[in-house]
Order: sequence, then structure tokens, then C-alpha cells
Amino acid sequence: MNSDSYHLVCPICGTRFDDAYQLTCPSRCNALIRAEYSARQLTIRDLPGMFRYSDWLPVKGHLATKSAPICYQSSGLANELGLNNLWIAFAGYWPERQAYVTSGSFKEFEALPTMVRLAERAKGVILVASAGNTGRAFAEVSSKIAKPVIIVVPAKARERIWTSTPAEHILLVTVDGDYTDAINLGNQLCTLPGIYPEGGAKNIARRDGMGTMMLEGAMTIRHLPDWYIQAVGSGTGGIAAWEASMRLVADGRFGSDLPRLLLIQNDPFTPMVHAFQEGRRDITLDDIKNPEDAISKVHADVLTNRAPPYGISGGVYDALVATNGIMTTATTDEAIKAGDLFRKTEGIDLDPAAAVCVGGLINAVKSGVIKSDEKILLAITGGGYERIQRELSMHIHAPDFEVDQNTDNEELMNSVREWVSRYV
Ligand SMILES: *Cc1c(COP(=O)(O)O)cnc(C)c1O
Ligand SMILES: [Zn+2]
Repeated sequence: MNSDSYHLVCPICGTRFDDAYQLTCPSRCNALIRAEYSARQLTIRDLPGMFRYSDWLPVKGHLATKSAPICYQSSGLANELGLNNLWIAFAGYWPERQAYVTSGSFKEFEALPTMVRLAERAKGVILVASAGNTGRAFAEVSSKIAKPVIIVVPAKARERIWTSTPAEHILLVTVDGDYTDAINLGNQLCTLPGIYPEGGAKNIARRDGMGTMMLEGAMTIRHLPDWYIQAVGSGTGGIAAWEASMRLVADGRFGSDLPRLLLIQNDPFTPMVHAFQEGRRDITLDDIKNPEDAISKVHADVLTNRAPPYGISGGVYDALVATNGIMTTATTDEAIKAGDLFRKTEGIDLDPAAAVCVGGLINAVKSGVIKSDEKILLAITGGGYERIQRELSMHIHAPDFEVDQNTDNEELMNSVREWVSRYV
């Protein structure tokens, strides 16, 4: 007998299995496994923060947190753009609107259920390789609940790993290189016993945590929107929005049409836009020409994932096809202007990635893709950093290891092993 309120299921072979923190199908299908919840209808639970959506999160318990998405109908930006039905799902710090995401981005909606899921399903330490926002989100949760996390970031992102209370249980490793180098070192460290990779898009807690943006939107609008708009680097938030909207359709109270995804990349780093506009399931080297140069020109480097879960079954390509979705771009210039307009009309500063999202919305309105009466859910995935800076403490964590080409690999592995043994 198993009393779990969810199972895992593989969308290719259909196998259903119990959650032991797997990231892949036991038969090794090349697909994103999903959680299948026994609650067909969503009941809002009297639990802290985002855990009010626990019916559709892969957790049994919860954590004390005020972190959750909020949603409201825009008047300022909506008037400016001539839109009659613009709804803003906001992840960030904005106390007037009851938004208390103290790490500033929707990556915290991933970190919270992932930490609970890992503690419930496996005994080990989580490892996150990040360009900044994900690492900071996990650091913030770690500092609040005193649970260990290993964070690997490019050296130039080290200042992004701050927490609102001192973090005593994080091991911060910086790499002399870029995001891809951080991922590679992270993979190496994950070969040590007791270390579990966070898993990116493969982690159901990440996707279903991010999917709360759509849940909050549908609850506030009391209907599914016509569009879900988000800036993407990996596209995991887009996949999550699609999966959440399938559950909302099955719920029966929010309409029967899946929202169309409008996903935006920051020109000139736009591999998924290229591939999708040419109707391809695969990203080729042609889609990522001169990546270093392109990455140096973007406004939001959290959007520069070189290996997104695009072609994998259940990934971004499938999400776009299933929802009649679109991929488009915003330039750095457009993003900066859009961020300024958002601050002026809505009253809060944006994460650079969220500014790219607003830039993409403006472009889609101008080109006529979006009509003025359509219900739009605009995913503002991060913001309020100016308020955080003014009102909260920001403890920058000094790196525990700074890895470069002179680092003795064996020594590093031994030290990390020893650190992990304190917890496992
Ligand atoms: C990570 C991130 C994104 C992109 O998320 P995806 O994983 O591509 O869905 C957008 N905005 C912010 C603020 C982020 O931190
Ligand atoms: Zn399978």
C-alpha cells in the first residue's frame, strides 16, 4: 500500500513509479518524467507561502516561508500598451503587494519544494550549478532552514550569492570560467557519494514549483489566460506553465484551452528562437554562433543556457507545439527601455530577465501577435532588488573553494567529501 499523493510517470513508456528523487525514467527514456497528483482539483491549503499549492507539489511536508507568487491586474503598463486584460504574476520582493521572495526571483519556487522533496525522498546534500539566481535561491532557503547545499558558480557570479540571514550550511565553489564550466565541475562533484544534483528541468520539484506562477495566475483571473509570457534561458518555466495549465484544464473550473506560450530570448543569444522559428526539434551549432560574443552582449545572462531542455520529449519544443506557442526576442536596448517603463508604470524595479520579458511583450503587441482584449499572464520572474537592498540585510558568502587550472582536483574532491560527511 502506498499512500503517496503523487506518483512519477514517464511520458514515453508510461511507467508509473514511486518517488525516490529520480530525475529520469527507470527505463532510461529520453523524456522529462512528470508528477501525477491524485488531487484532480486544486484545493488551496492553509500552509505557508507557496506551500498553499501543495496539492500539486511533489512534497508531503512544508517549510516556514512567506515566499509565493502574487498576481494582480495591471493598469499602468496595460494603459501604456493599450491592453485591457493584462495580468502580472510577480516573483520577487514587493511588500505592498505581499510579495516576499527575499532572494528576488522565481528560482526560490524551485528551491523550496526541492529541499523538502530531497529530505523526504533521499538522504543527501543537494548540489546546484548556477549562473547566480538559482544558487542564491538555494542559499537563501539553506540559510533559513539550516540544511546543507553545495553551490557551484562562475567566479564572476560570486557576488550574486547573498542571503538575508548568514548562511552557515552552504559550500560555495567558484570556477574560473563560465556557466558551462560550473556545470561541468558540478557534474564531477556529483560523482561523490551523498551528493544529489538539483537536476534542472529534469527535477519535477523545479518545474512544479515554477508552475505555481500559472496556478496563482489562474486563481486570480479565475480562468486560464490566453497567453503565458516569460523570458527563457532553459525554458523550464515555460514547460512548467504548460504542465500546470494541463492540470488546470483537467481540474475543470478554469476553461478548456491551454494558454499559448510566448517565450522570449535576449537577442543576440537566441538558440531556441532560431530552432523553433525554423520548425526544428534540435538546436544545432548554427543556432549558437560565437556564443562568447553573444553572451557578452545580453542584458540578462541568466538567459544564456547553451544546452536547454528543448528537444527532449516533454521539453520546450513539445510545450510550444502543444500550446500553439511562439518564440521571439527582445534586444538589450529594448529590455532596458522596457524595464524603465515597467518601473515607471508599475512601481518596481525588475531583474534583467524580467525586463527582457516586458520587452518581448511590447514587441508582440507592436507586431499585432497579441490582441488588446486577450487575457495575458505576464511572468515577472524577478524583481524588487532595490527594496531588498534597502530593507533587508545582504550577507555575501565568501567562496569556500576557488577553482582554477592550478587547483588540485583530488584535494578538492577530498575536501568536499569531508564536508558532506558532516551531514550525511
Ligand atoms: C532563470 C530565470 C529565468 C529563465 O527561466 P527558465 O529556466 O528559462 O524558465 C527568467 N527570469 C529569471 C529572473 C530567472 O532567474
Ligand atoms: Zn520511460
